[in-house]
Amino acid sequence: MKIIIAKKAGFCFGVKRAVDIAFQLAREKRKGVYTLGPIIHNPQVVERLKEKGIVPIEDIKTKKNVRALIIRTHGIPLHLSKEISYMGCEIIDATCPFVKKAQYYAKLLKEEGYQVVILGEKNHPEVKGLMSYANDDVIVIDSKTPLPKLKSRVGIVVQTTQSLEALKKVLSDTLEHANEIKVYNTICNSTALRLKETEKMARKVDVMLVVGGKNSANTTQLTRLCKSLSVPTYHIETSSEIKEEWVKNAKKLGITAGASTPEWIIKEVEKRIRDIGG
Ligand code: SF4
Repeated sequence: MKIIIAKKAGFCFGVKRAVDIAFQLAREKRKGVYTLGPIIHNPQVVERLKEKGIVPIEDIKTKKNVRALIIRTHGIPLHLSKEISYMGCEIIDATCPFVKKAQYYAKLLKEEGYQVVILGEKNHPEVKGLMSYANDDVIVIDSKTPLPKLKSRVGIVVQTTQSLEALKKVLSDTLEHANEIKVYNTICNSTALRLKETEKMARKVDVMLVVGGKNSANTTQLTRLCKSLSVPTYHIETSSEIKEEWVKNAKKLGITAGASTPEWIIKEVEKRIRDIGG
């Protein structure tokens, strides 16, 4: 069996940066440092950090002696960051610079008087953060939902993990409503490249393994993509989930991984496949 591992599998730039910041603080053995929510959508990495003393908390008010909070790649709403600072807690900002850019554009569109439309998942933390930078009449949409009534001047920003196809669709729908449209394409290249490479790979192999947190949106997106190409696809978090019957008859097997999957987990998956006979 031939095993092909995607070149873009695993940590993207923003996740690597955030995880490095967290592990660096763990090495410094600073007391009272927490992450606001899990640092990334990967339970194994979160567990390793916990062992080193950096624990996720959901709400700063429920915990005493929080001296510093690491903000994850998705960023946080503006009011929350003001609240945290007001409570005297240090903010260690690991928001991905690409997400920061989207936040900046949402604010800019608001200041320029556009009705801000965010293409993204309403309940995703990144989108919740973006919303806080826009005006109160901000609208969050996905490419499948029909657009509500819009004002005549519309400004669009995009959740970094959305696809270009979704943006094109929303843009063409918006043309039916607005006289003036300003678009900031804030889609992260890393996601698009990973999807493209995965699609190419899935067309060539007999079985695809997609490695990453079950709670990771971009890993789920990779799984959906592979399944849509009718290649047998399995979404796993770790090598222990692999069943021999999934892979033993494959001549070519592809491994891809979400942006929050560390290299050591991908290596373990590869080793397990080799042990089975790859
Ligand atoms: S996927 Fe892109 S935007 Fe998201 S954390 Fe990674 S580099 Fe940043």
